[in-house]
Amino acid sequence: MTDPSPDAPWPNTQQGIRRRNLSLVMHAVVAQGPLSRAAVAGRIGLTRAAVSTLVDELIRGGLLVELGPERPGTVGRPGSSLTVGPHGPVGIGAEIGVDHLAVCAVDLHGKVRARAAAEGDNRGRPPEPVLKELARLVGEVTSTARGLGLRPAGLAVAVPGLVARDSHTVVRAPNLGWSQVDIGAHLRADGPEGMALSVDNEANLGALAELWIGGDPAPQDFVHVSAEIGIGAALVVGGRLLRGTHGFAGELGHVPVRPEGPACPCGGRGCLEQYAGEEAVLRAAGLEPGGGRIGLLAGLADDGDQRVRRALRGAGSALGIALSGAVNLLDPQTVVLGGALSRLAPWLLPSLERELGRRTADPQRPRGGSVTVSRLGSQGPLLGAAHSVVQAVLDDPAALAGRAG
Ligand SMILES: [Zn+2]
Repeated sequence: MTDPSPDAPWPNTQQGIRRRNLSLVMHAVVAQGPLSRAAVAGRIGLTRAAVSTLVDELIRGGLLVELGPERPGTVGRPGSSLTVGPHGPVGIGAEIGVDHLAVCAVDLHGKVRARAAAEGDNRGRPPEPVLKELARLVGEVTSTARGLGLRPAGLAVAVPGLVARDSHTVVRAPNLGWSQVDIGAHLRADGPEGMALSVDNEANLGALAELWIGGDPAPQDFVHVSAEIGIGAALVVGGRLLRGTHGFAGELGHVPVRPEGPACPCGGRGCLEQYAGEEAVLRAAGLEPGGGRIGLLAGLADDGDQRVRRALRGAGSALGIALSGAVNLLDPQTVVLGGALSRLAPWLLPSLERELGRRTADPQRPRGGSVTVSRLGSQGPLLGAAHSVVQAVLDDPAALAGRAG
């Protein structure tokens, strides 16, 4: 998390330049601090006088603090170093899963400072009680954060469905059975007042988490595949999430694997989800569908259950076929298996990599070396949600410092 996002919001005016420079200072201190003013100036290429003015503004806004002299005996400010304030902002992330709800608070260093969760099957539950429960968990986490002297700066919610570009309406979440649900309106009615709120697809937030905190160095061009009941993907190109015209890019689950295959609820036939979705894999393994079965599949495969292993090999092949289209089109550095899929990687990867290697056009492409497994696993979307708020603070600290008065 060392650079401002390519989508950072600065207009090309004097105010815009000031906001951009405030952001550069914040990014430098968070990534490399504690730093003296002179060190910040050296790193971002501004004069010390200019940096001092920016730093004073960030200190007044409660975003940075001065630690005092670096060496005992050094008098005055020149030797003192800057760091993120202990009572600074936190990003609140929330996740609506098919089998759970989760909320966490992440500080500017990327540390999780509070969390709360509730297990339970949300399939077919109407939105109102689910969102009331989520609002209660958000309230719990924000009051814990406030108790630690932190300031909640915004709330971002990850959902397993398509989200409109207004960033608060779920257009369709097939595995919850929701359509046209204005999450923003519900949470604003029941949730903490005055917090900026956004809603995004879980696969998008999982991919952004990978970009921000997943690797060192993080890949800048990759396809991130995740699954709960459905299969989602997100495309990161040049360090930027590719959202598409309507915000619906990355619907890998509905890429056809066999055009004459079984009918899919989306209206197509032989979609990837019909072969590699959780229910399809359970069916192929002779198991009953139900909530939270990824752990069961992983356990049985680990114990050597041949039927489960065969079902996972089949799912891996189908994933490889569907992903070969994306890899041929986009030429990414890597394909990342994230979310619950990362737990099944040992049994999915061999057939996935074989199919992908066979179908990607360039014979020089390293076979098997182009798929990686996310270290964030099923925590990706929740952490991505919280980090999207943190990233927004770092990209435009003036907005928050202004609000703090
Ligand atoms: Zn489909």
